[in-house]
Amino acid sequence: MSATSYKADLRDIKFVLFEQMKAHEQLADVPRYKDFDRDMYEAVLDMARDLSENVLSPVNKVGDREGVKLDGEGNITTPDCFKGAYKALAESGLIGASLAQEHGGQGLPHVVDIATHEMTSGAAMAFNMYPGLTRAAANLLTWPDAPAWIQALAVPKMLGGEWGGTMCLTEAGAGTSVGDNRAAAVPTADDGVYHLTGEKVFISGADQDLVSNILHMVLARTPGAPPGTKGLSMFIVPKFHFDAAGTLGARNDAKVVGIEHKMGINGSATCTLALGATGTCVGYLYGGEHQGMEIMFRMMNEARIGVGIQALGLASAAYQNALAYAKDRVQGSAVEHFRETDPPRVTINKHPDVRRNLMLMKCQVDAMRSLIYSVANRFDKTEHGDESEKEYLLGLVELMTPIVKAYCSDVSFSVCSTAVQVFGGYGYIGEYPVEQHLRDSKIMAIYEGTNGIQAMDMLGRKMRKGQGMLFMSWLDEANMELERARAIGELAEEVAGLERARDQLGQTAMHLGMVGAQGNLRGAMLQATPFLELFGTVVLGLHSLWQARVAHEALRDGATGDDGKFYRGKIANARFYMKNVIPRATAIAKAIQMGDESCLEDGLFD
Ligand SMILES: Cc1cc2nc3c(=O)[nH]c(=O)nc-3n(C[C@H](O)[C@H](O)[C@H](O)COP(=O)(O)OP(=O)(O)OC[C@H]3O[C@@H](n4cnc5c(N)ncnc54)[C@H](O)[C@@H]3O)c2cc1C
Repeated sequence: MSATSYKADLRDIKFVLFEQMKAHEQLADVPRYKDFDRDMYEAVLDMARDLSENVLSPVNKVGDREGVKLDGEGNITTPDCFKGAYKALAESGLIGASLAQEHGGQGLPHVVDIATHEMTSGAAMAFNMYPGLTRAAANLLTWPDAPAWIQALAVPKMLGGEWGGTMCLTEAGAGTSVGDNRAAAVPTADDGVYHLTGEKVFISGADQDLVSNILHMVLARTPGAPPGTKGLSMFIVPKFHFDAAGTLGARNDAKVVGIEHKMGINGSATCTLALGATGTCVGYLYGGEHQGMEIMFRMMNEARIGVGIQALGLASAAYQNALAYAKDRVQGSAVEHFRETDPPRVTINKHPDVRRNLMLMKCQVDAMRSLIYSVANRFDKTEHGDESEKEYLLGLVELMTPIVKAYCSDVSFSVCSTAVQVFGGYGYIGEYPVEQHLRDSKIMAIYEGTNGIQAMDMLGRKMRKGQGMLFMSWLDEANMELERARAIGELAEEVAGLERARDQLGQTAMHLGMVGAQGNLRGAMLQATPFLELFGTVVLGLHSLWQARVAHEALRDGATGDDGKFYRGKIANARFYMKNVIPRATAIAKAIQMGDESCLEDGLFD
């Protein structure tokens, strides 16, 4: 591995998809995926690996160093090398891999799509923001209530790499509190056509030169709309006007007036977008007035899972880099030779402390991959068409979303930090990619709803939904996996450790439910972030156990050589996780139940 390269963990990606989840077998019965088979999925994955390692990875550092430039007309220039990379990505069909073929997509299962995104994000996260948001905007436009003429025209162009897309919620006074949005939209004599004014901030890709037109998905308030999120409507605001044939006209007055200088993702333009500041900004209403938040949530839910995929991609890239470096870097001697005058020098992967770091990274990355792919797999299973099954599956996706977005992004940041540590001083300098991974990874805890807000959403909404119904469904599935693992005698200790943590999680959930029911909402919400950490730690433990069970079965079936080593690695993951990480979950549970509220004392931070 060179100093700047990305290495996809295709062995593990294929293990999760085809050995652990058996996605190809499960999806063979789903009408939408009947024309695909394992060979086709593998071909897509191999192609995504080649593209990520050979085309996208080389633009990552350049994008970070060059950043983007804004001229006086609101035009942004991205690094030169981004253009060829964007063209190659569009030609590969990966922008719309899982969107239906009728919209210009490939119609692939979400779980395969997500695996490709793991690789493209891991190779070049900032670059991948442009196609990522474009895809999410295009997907939003495929819903039946989107304006039909825009849908038919724009979606294939977006998926084909001709047009881009953005999501525009944030304003200077309305970050977390989206309901404080002030951008205004006034109806015109033309049905569904509005004139917008206002200013959006922090908009990713609000201008760029990789595409010929951009469609902004904008939240704004119509005259007389009720306050808060209930009064928001969704508008499609083009950069250039276009007619029904797709011919571009004059520039719309939606222009970038500033860009942010950031600690990471420097190749991704983060923009202030002025609407109607010097002329007329035309927007097309999507859905009805005041339905904006409900519509935007479709995009946000997808984007939150997208952040989890970014988290996995970066964490895997950081781990692979740290592993390659540790195998190569010679420093010091083995601890048992410390007293000798000239002991043989060893590579740092021989030092126990470095091995502990590598192991922690490995078991967390592998478990995150399992979790995130399993969430995508549930989406695919909803295509079976049974409504009650669909509701059940979507409920579990809903419950896991804060863990995928928030817990995994926190874990990813910590994995990237550990990778820097494994490199020592060389991790802190620009020669190797891990310092960029660490800087790039911080944003994941902030955008798409900060992790603190995700934690409150988990505790305040998802845990309470249907009187705890989602949590109970998850618990049933967790218990089934524990039973399956118990059947493998060698996993008895791991099962017992995880069961203790599961019980603590349940008790803590009940405890916090009581705190809230007694009217102490501040006391309950104070524990939202630790609770999410507790829940996330147990969830990843369960995925680690699932993988160890599958590995045991493969070894029992006679796997040897590199395969045998791979499966033994999975078993070691689970053992390490249950003995070193799961005890932290138990400690968090105890701390939450102690109910300390000292930081809420009057006057402390006022
Ligand atoms: C690089 C980058 C790219 C972005 N891309 C986009 C984009 O494409 N589109 C878009 O619309 N936005 C985008 N954003 C905006 C991003 O989503 C917001 O920054 C984020 O929602 C937080 O809003 P804020 O920055 O105003 O922080 P604030 O809302 O001011 O929050 C500050 C802190 O207070 C906490 N907090 C706030 N309210 C509460 C509460 N009620 N209870 C508990 N804690 C609270 C938060 O968790 C946070 O820790 C981007 C931001 C960045 C930095």
